[in-house]
Amino acid sequence: MPIVAFGSGEEFEAHVPLVIVGAGACGLVAALAAKQFGMEAVVLERDALPRGSTSMSQGFIPAAGTRFQERRGVTDSPALMAEDIQRKNGHQADPAIVRALTEASAGVVEWLADDHGVPFDLVEGFLYPGHSRMRMHATPRRTGEELMGSLLNAVEAAGVDLLTEARVVDLHVDDGGRVHGVTLERPDGSREAIGCDALILACNGYGGNPELVARHLPALKDALYFGHEGNQGDALLWGEAMGASLKDLGACQGHGSLAMPHQTLITWAVMMRGGVQLNREGRRFSNEHGGYSEQAAKVLAQPGGMAWNLFDRRIHQAALEFEDYRNAHIAGAVRTFDSLEAMAAGLELPLEALRETFAEMQALAESGAADAFGRTFSSEDLLTAPYHAIKVTGALFHTQGGLEVNTQARVLRQDGSLFANLFAAGGAARGVSGSGDSGYLSGNGLLSAVVLGAIAGREAARQLSCDSAA
Ligand SMILES: Cc1cc2nc3c(=O)[nH]c(=O)nc-3n(C[C@H](O)[C@H](O)[C@H](O)COP(=O)(O)OP(=O)(O)OC[C@H]3O[C@@H](n4cnc5c(N)ncnc54)[C@H](O)[C@@H]3O)c2cc1C
Repeated sequence: MPIVAFGSGEEFEAHVPLVIVGAGACGLVAALAAKQFGMEAVVLERDALPRGSTSMSQGFIPAAGTRFQERRGVTDSPALMAEDIQRKNGHQADPAIVRALTEASAGVVEWLADDHGVPFDLVEGFLYPGHSRMRMHATPRRTGEELMGSLLNAVEAAGVDLLTEARVVDLHVDDGGRVHGVTLERPDGSREAIGCDALILACNGYGGNPELVARHLPALKDALYFGHEGNQGDALLWGEAMGASLKDLGACQGHGSLAMPHQTLITWAVMMRGGVQLNREGRRFSNEHGGYSEQAAKVLAQPGGMAWNLFDRRIHQAALEFEDYRNAHIAGAVRTFDSLEAMAAGLELPLEALRETFAEMQALAESGAADAFGRTFSSEDLLTAPYHAIKVTGALFHTQGGLEVNTQARVLRQDGSLFANLFAAGGAARGVSGSGDSGYLSGNGLLSAVVLGAIAGREAARQLSCDSAA
């Protein structure tokens, strides 16, 4: 993605104080926040209909200390949430960013609910791996599509300018690293240049760019990419060309539970409520409670690169709460068997191995000991007939590394100094998931998109107001 050297007398067709690249959750929330602070912004989106990875997600946003939690008797705090995030990533994330995100999380979720009508509620009934409290907030259907719909309505109601079919191809940057504008390209190949006083990169990571995935995530280079195809790593490439500090490029959100061949996300709640994953040999191969992100590579390493999610009627009934799961069920992904014998025959698994796997889980529940992978079982976890099974594979959902930012979402150079007017958030910025595939705590993606997005919009607006007052 080219950087155009500013200063050779280029003409911009229009000028807006703030340009935001990308209309996923990050870009839309940043625009709402800037508007709240009185700053006019235009959001530029390459697609005709903004969707982004946000619309493919479950739309679960973690936040600590919200009134939605209080209403359900959940006691939580930003400090607890920060501890959970850092424990999962091995304390590799910037603690100042983790603190800024966790402390702002409740305020941002409540602001979106109160001022912009996003119908959030607390997701109850299970904890994702690594979370010590129920703190996921989602809209009623539990889909990112619904979250995106709510944000697009909010943006329209707030009068934010959103230009679709407008792919940003160039940044105009002077010798000092100040951004003066962008060039966008329309689907017919025509180009327009827009001047700006500040720029927010909200165009996510590089998951849709196979070359960058092979370079930075070699273990997942053959994994199915299940994020938005428009996420081509443009922010990363611009940052690289400008000399920005790029961090944690090997970090990502994988997922070890994508139904095949239906390509539907099977909620990890299935595992957290007692389900297990078996390989083609009828054996478990991991601690399913370790984390669904690192599970992607573990599933891909099994014979055939696949696994069977195995669970029972109790778990099936609970999972029906999730629209993705209901869709998978309707599509025929969920298979049902009355006995281990029928399951072994139906899934072509060795019966003896299957019996041994079940006997081991029974013994673990009785002894309270952990298995070879570190998982324990309680008697409530034990699966009873009829059994359900779904064939799944591992997938790459999105990348978590990116441009290093400070707590105001301002982008840093490699020497630690700040670019004058460049901001990044969401998947474009370095996340809080450490440096690999195992540091991703569920919700880190939208935390960075929504909360850091709000911070970026607010701080860009604040900076521009100060500049114009000076
Ligand atoms: C299946 C799935 C499930 C997930 N579930 C969850 C979850 O429940 N909770 C959670 O926290 N996270 C989840 N995630 C991760 C989460 O979706 C992302 O972290 C988050 O949506 C990132 O938001 P964003 O706004 O940064 O990017 P996106 O939503 O991807 O938006 C980026 C936008 O930028 C546009 N764009 C890119 N380049 C350009 C350009 N050059 N010019 C103009 N526009 C451009 C793209 O078209 C896109 O619309 C999930 C991801 C997937 C794939």
